Amino acid sequence: MLSTDNAVELRWRCSLPMGSSSAPVIGKDILGRPIRDFSGSEWWGVPRKEIPWYPRINYDRCIGCGICFLTCSGRVVYDWDFSTMKPIVARPYNCMVGCDTCAKLCPRDAIVFPHLSELRAWRDKAGAVAKARKTLEELASMRK
Ligand code: SF4
Ligand code: SF4
Repeated sequence: MLSTDNAVELRWRCSLPMGSSSAPVIGKDILGRPIRDFSGSEWWGVPRKEIPWYPRINYDRCIGCGICFLTCSGRVVYDWDFSTMKPIVARPYNCMVGCDTCAKLCPRDAIVFPHLSELRAWRDKAGAVAKARKTLEELASMRK
């Protein structure tokens, strides 16, 4: 079992989802889900705002089914516009880098993300693979 200090250090370094609770709560959405602000966080040591990974909606294709809004419950990236009955990307930098669940679930392919090649370029620029490996080696040594 890791000590609390070690676990916090490793979560911080990796920007792992399990470190989400450190993002400040800034309100609640219309469903009562807590809204946290992840825009000041880092992704593998890179400021989150330097990585333009977030959904863009093609409103010509969107039919307002709501599955994107309802599915994104942990990061609460979307708000719902009741005047248009369409989603709004209200907190783009809350989106988890690499996640595209909402796009995969959209019945109209109305949600677009940057290309995989861009994601991998950000991964390499951040040195994420080496950092992940180092983290796992440290975890292994702590278990001895
Ligand atoms: S899942 Fe797609 S079609 Fe449904 S509301 Fe979201 S963007 Fe529109
Ligand atoms: S990709 Fe994931 S985190 Fe980002 S908006 Fe969609 S469901 Fe939310």
